[in-house]
Amino acid sequence: MTISTARVRMALRHTFRIARSADDFRESVLVRIAGAGREGFGEAAPMSRYGQTADSAERVLSSLDEGVLDTPERIEEILGGLREWFGGESAALAAIDIALHDLLGKRLGAPLYEIMGLDPERTPATSYTIGIDSAEIIKMKVEEAADYQYLKVKMGLDNDYEIMETVRGLTDRPVRIDANEGWTKEEALEKIRWLEGLNVELIEQPLPSDRIAESRWLAERVSVPLFADESVHTAEDIPHLIGAFHGINIKLTKCGGIREAVRMIHAARACNMLVMLGCTIESSLGITAAAQISPLVDYADLDGNLLITNDPVVGVKTVEGKLVLPVGAGLGITLTDRSVLEALAGPPDPT
Ligand code: MG
Repeated sequence: MTISTARVRMALRHTFRIARSADDFRESVLVRIAGAGREGFGEAAPMSRYGQTADSAERVLSSLDEGVLDTPERIEEILGGLREWFGGESAALAAIDIALHDLLGKRLGAPLYEIMGLDPERTPATSYTIGIDSAEIIKMKVEEAADYQYLKVKMGLDNDYEIMETVRGLTDRPVRIDANEGWTKEEALEKIRWLEGLNVELIEQPLPSDRIAESRWLAERVSVPLFADESVHTAEDIPHLIGAFHGINIKLTKCGGIREAVRMIHAARACNMLVMLGCTIESSLGITAAAQISPLVDYADLDGNLLITNDPVVGVKTVEGKLVLPVGAGLGITLTDRSVLEALAGPPDPT
């Protein structure tokens, strides 16, 4: 099999500000695995929180021995062996994982959800994310989100009360809050108690990722479910979070792909936890891959593709926020950007 990559620069509709960063664009690395007349596509959406960049993802992908993919349908064997080799480059590992699943679906001539035994009607509705901003811009963003049933509101800087008051002045739709590690435990307690009366469904990562004991203290004092995001990467992390969080946010790019995401869903269920599938800013390729397994989860926050203006891929759609899966084999995605397609054509098929 051959591996080729193409870097895509995705422009954000608005500056995307969260507690630790602000961006006007993000870069992803799209990946094509090809051989024996078949191809599969994946996406590495690097997360700066974990020290990843498009450069680091490309570097690790270009140094991968293509021979390890020669029996691409043996996904368990391949990915089990690659995790250690990829180290902290979970986004790049996710790209290989996603491409292998796409390839497998095409080989079997079936959509991935069908291969996974899932009912495509059972997809959840995604939330639409409102980044941290002035009251004026928040107003504009809430209007843009009119088609979505759930809002995800970012917090963790000094205007949390103003943001929520602005949102509640415009809509009574359910809100999910993400503090992105931005609060102390006392601040979290005060703010969450205030938010509890405002139709807030859940609070994501109120405290820094390593403050598990403090999160347990907080969980004992609030009634709204707390979700781990930065505190949870792979299935092995989940048992340590019992009592500190009521649920987890799984991202393919954070955990290393579909295989690990499914392990995490089952581990979380065994620990009696709720499950959300989330994302970073990424194209419809990565978002569609996550959406394929979304019938397994309680909440979806799969809107990274909705926040960019130059999506190079067509895949999952939303109708009033509900995820509508494409019917094609594998991921069912189509690449629509000519320069990306040309870059991914890569070296000629060895077979
Ligand atoms: Mg989060």
